[in-house]
Amino acid sequence: MLDTTTPEIVITASSLAGVRYALCSMRQLAESERGVARATSFVIPQVRMDDFPQLRFRGLHYCDKLEPWRIERAIRLAAYFKFNYFVLECPMELKKHPEYVKKSALSQEQVRRFVQLGKELGITLIPCVSIFGHQSSIVSGGQILLDQDPAYASLLEPTGSSWCISNPAAVEYVEDIVSEYLDVYDNPPYFHATCDEAYNAGSCSLCRKGGEYWKKVANHINHFRDFCAARNCRMMIWHDMLVLKDAPAWKGSTSNGNKDAGKLRGAINRDVIICYWEYRFADHHYRAPKDGVMGFPLFDLFRKEGFDVLNSGWFYDTTPALGEKAFKNGGLGILQTTWHELNNSGSYHTIYAGGSTSGWNPLARCPTVSDGPIFTVDILNRYVRDVNYDMGIRDPAKTGTK
Ligand SMILES: [Zn+2]
Repeated sequence: MLDTTTPEIVITASSLAGVRYALCSMRQLAESERGVARATSFVIPQVRMDDFPQLRFRGLHYCDKLEPWRIERAIRLAAYFKFNYFVLECPMELKKHPEYVKKSALSQEQVRRFVQLGKELGITLIPCVSIFGHQSSIVSGGQILLDQDPAYASLLEPTGSSWCISNPAAVEYVEDIVSEYLDVYDNPPYFHATCDEAYNAGSCSLCRKGGEYWKKVANHINHFRDFCAARNCRMMIWHDMLVLKDAPAWKGSTSNGNKDAGKLRGAINRDVIICYWEYRFADHHYRAPKDGVMGFPLFDLFRKEGFDVLNSGWFYDTTPALGEKAFKNGGLGILQTTWHELNNSGSYHTIYAGGSTSGWNPLARCPTVSDGPIFTVDILNRYVRDVNYDMGIRDPAKTGTK
């Protein structure tokens, strides 16, 4: 609890994190000294705030530019908005397989510094690298293996988009990558293995052999679940390949799986956390509570089948509704995404919506323009400025929401 109505400011909390959150609230409420030429102090309004996070997992996913100052600012901003996890999906240099990443990858030293910074700010960094698909995409380190040497082709499906999970050498190669990530992230409690949009998976002659490719995928996911669990780390994956595309029961929801998706889902270890992502406009997916029923049928499906679920929105569209859904229906929390867009005012709004509203108090509502003469981007700019001050950023090329 934060009480500024008494002669001395009083903070009461059950943990150090609570004290930190109270200080964040106080800083967010502080107003610069008024009526002087140069402000030298702040005025704290008189308030009594007795609050706590409603969802225990409040994560922000980062997959944007690799400039270290941007990543540091995102980590600091996430902590300021009371997220407690930061999923970093950026290519990192690898000692054992340097050929896997581009020269622009983050150095291990940089990542270790981010992990340490997170510890100081009360936000835990989670590594994110794909064990299945997205090998053609920059989000997972970029597909440069095949561009360098055709001999690497046996590790991947013919298009290069997914790992060839039937090849033990490919599994071993991915193990090396995951292991190095877990080392550099200082044995994190979670690992995000992605597994989304695994297009053209299972297309090679080895994967097609014997049929029932879904069993190979389930074994692959469970193998890496066990690999992480041996290091006291819990694995999470995106949901879309686990549900039949556009099945009538969830038509319109995000789904990329084939006819065997149900069998695949059934065979996956229930310790794996499902990150359910839904980015389109809320109206497409979210029905206001009616007869006690809410939208997001895939969330209900995964919960009914025994999985822990994190809800993932992007921008503002689905985020508040996903937070409310998680809160009212036993979700583990939220994992707010920003993708490659954390460089404009709209995407910074994502942090505002994902942290302070959806994760902290899912039943609250973010203010919008219709609430009166306010412009939410301006409000957010003020907090971005606070973080810029902390980092010593003065360069106009780096200030503001860019
Ligand atoms: Zn294959």
